[in-house]
Amino acid sequence: MNKTIIGAVAALTMLSMLSITAQAQRPARKPARIVVAYVTSNPTVMPDPSRMTHINYAFGHVNDTFNGVRISNESRLHSITALKKDAPWLKVCLSIGGWGSGRFSEMAATEENRKAFARDCARVVTEFDLDGIDMDWEYPTSSAAGISSSPDDTKNFTLLIKEIRAAIGPRKLLTMASPSNARFVDFPEVLPYMDFINVMAYDMGRPPRHNAALYRQDEAGNTSPFTRGSADRAIQNHLDAGIPKEKLTLGMPLYGHGDKKNYPDYVDFKDMAAPKEGLSEHWDEIARVPYYADSEGNLMLGYDNVRSITEKCQYIKDKGLLGGMYWEYSCDNPEGDLTRVIAAELIPKRFVSAQAVPKASYAGKEKRFKALLYYSDKVEEAHAQFAHQAIDFFKKLTVGDGWTLDVSKDKLPDLTSYDVVIMPDVMPWNAADRTRFEEYMENGGGWLGFHGAGYNDASTGWDWFKNFLGGFSFLCNTWPPQPALVEVEGFDHPVTKNLPARYVAPASEFYQWQPDPRSNPDLRILASLARENFPMGLKDIVFGGDFPVVWTNTKYRMVYINMGHGDETFTDATQNLLFINALRWLAFHKP
Ligand code: ZN
Repeated sequence: MNKTIIGAVAALTMLSMLSITAQAQRPARKPARIVVAYVTSNPTVMPDPSRMTHINYAFGHVNDTFNGVRISNESRLHSITALKKDAPWLKVCLSIGGWGSGRFSEMAATEENRKAFARDCARVVTEFDLDGIDMDWEYPTSSAAGISSSPDDTKNFTLLIKEIRAAIGPRKLLTMASPSNARFVDFPEVLPYMDFINVMAYDMGRPPRHNAALYRQDEAGNTSPFTRGSADRAIQNHLDAGIPKEKLTLGMPLYGHGDKKNYPDYVDFKDMAAPKEGLSEHWDEIARVPYYADSEGNLMLGYDNVRSITEKCQYIKDKGLLGGMYWEYSCDNPEGDLTRVIAAELIPKRFVSAQAVPKASYAGKEKRFKALLYYSDKVEEAHAQFAHQAIDFFKKLTVGDGWTLDVSKDKLPDLTSYDVVIMPDVMPWNAADRTRFEEYMENGGGWLGFHGAGYNDASTGWDWFKNFLGGFSFLCNTWPPQPALVEVEGFDHPVTKNLPARYVAPASEFYQWQPDPRSNPDLRILASLARENFPMGLKDIVFGGDFPVVWTNTKYRMVYINMGHGDETFTDATQNLLFINALRWLAFHKP
């Protein structure tokens, strides 16, 4: 290896090292805790995997012949497990059972049925690309949910768990949901086969009592009039049953219980409105949960909000529990207030990107490369301004003659010797240059396009280029240029390496497209504008919708980055790292 190659690698490596060092000061790469989200089969809302480590898909059931598994809405389960492609940290389990789901007692009663059922669990794990099975039999020996039961259920449950573990093997997850009283199951017997236990610390009361109080009593011994059970008591019950704290998650409800007159029995957090006339909102200082009460202080609606959920997450950390669980994802509001706070409290954002970053390959095998920057001044002033700053930015990266950057204005030279073509503000305009660029890309060329270089509408008249970008046209833009909260996606991709889950991008104009780029299965979306930005803009306002800003069309070696309007684009280190990652990937990644 010659010195210039070492220089090239060192220059790029040092830039990456800066953020690796910052990251090294963070705690362990493994998540300190887990977040188990129940996701049900009915809603159409797709969970955001950055807010969780595990999904329990609800539900599968014991089939009518007591010897297999029946899954509700199989196609939704397929789409849930497909989330793992872009979220390699995510584990997806099938939860079998749920309130009122029966036939467990009959199935578990005979060895033949237990074995057949366990074999079928193994089949669905393989067939649906699952990470395990979550057992939700509510509850062995109890017919409270209107299901059959037998005094032998507890003994048979242990036998069943052994069969399922044997069938799915030691590497898959086997977990269960347990009610707050920790009854019904012989925990010392089943624990060796279980990865962890989810404690359903909710439905512990209905008006006039809280749904899910954290405590019943304060340190001075005062008791809340609205509660008998509590989440703290539920955890203690499970510790008393012999389960170590590292195998327990605390379940949290994203819903409340109403009095059935003023409010329905179940009220999702997203449907929670201000108290009705004559009622008012209160905070129970002992139980550490909010509630609505009438003028005489009678509890009419007990629920959880950001404050109580935050305190429960703190409880999980203080107690050293494995993590948190919640029922269920779609109860949260569209802003994701509860699911976001749970993720922020229990799984530090870094985990998401650190887990997913592929191994660095600084082995020095990389070749020196050659790039061309093509731009024009015959464009909007702010776009030309960005192009000139891009020239400075990329020139700086050639320090030590690590690689070559040629710059060409208004004309596209022969491209065959270039590894990457950078277009900061415009795509080729005359027919000869367009043909040259098409041939170059169709033969494996690399393209890094910014902002105006991707702008296309009916007037562009270049179908190949439209398809190359992903098959969509300019729909609208935000104006004036302003900073925006960017959500990084696709953490296993080299272009997002070492990026945080979110960052604030410096002021730029942002384009929205139609049809939605995400509808093209060939695209990998790498970043999008977070929904909190909306409404965005003062003159040209975008009110919502999907808003991808960085992607690659997997049919080509290309990355498009929507940023690049005006003179602030290169003022942010995080965003600069994204640009360098993209250049590096295009330069060194040859199919
Ligand atoms: Zn612009």
